[in-house]
Amino acid sequence: MFILGLTGGIGSGKSAASGVFKTLGVPVVDADVVAREVVMPTSGSGALAQITMHFGQDILLPDGQLDRVKLRKKIFADATEKQWLNNLLHPLIRQSLLSQLHSCQGDYAILEAPLLIENDLLSYIDKLVVVDVPEDIQLKRAMVRDHNSKAQIESIMAAQVSRAQRLKVADYVLDNSADLNALAQQVKALHQDILSQA
Ligand code: ATP
Repeated sequence: MFILGLTGGIGSGKSAASGVFKTLGVPVVDADVVAREVVMPTSGSGALAQITMHFGQDILLPDGQLDRVKLRKKIFADATEKQWLNNLLHPLIRQSLLSQLHSCQGDYAILEAPLLIENDLLSYIDKLVVVDVPEDIQLKRAMVRDHNSKAQIESIMAAQVSRAQRLKVADYVLDNSADLNALAQQVKALHQDILSQA
């Protein structure tokens, strides 16, 4: 299966782009969704039990689900705990991503991941497409969507690779500085291009 990686900074338009791919019938596996799946009580991965053993029962919500907000707070300022969690979850997420991608039907599949470059997923994809916008547009769109302050979005942007780093490893770039229709046109053209090599 030919795998096209799809990435971009916060608010760049990954969901908008993957939505167009989906309308074209391309299966999309979303790394954020998989990351949530592996810590579900029903996932069978054992991750939630290990997290509970490590952080204690109060890391769970009353319904037995992981309290993601509490976990995020615990690891936010603690690099050791963050590393522990990443060591546990990253291999499980990777395994699940790969099995979902390889069971997709179609000419090719998309791996959508905000942190595709940061989390070393480049070796699992054949080609990379980056959704690109200038930082000022990115900031504005993310602030509106998330009802977040400029400082909050800027701190998330600072924790991601830079626009230049992303563009450096891109095989294809979708310029999302204009409207959604312009983005859709580019996705359709790219789809034809990928079909010819998948
Ligand atoms: P994240 O990584 O934070 O999940 P994303 O890369 O998936 O973000 P989207 O959610 O697709 O980004 O887009 C961010 C916001 O910008 C959304 O509210 C979306 O509707 C809007 N948006 C995306 N593309 C455009 C565009 N070309 N014109 C106007 N608004 C846009």
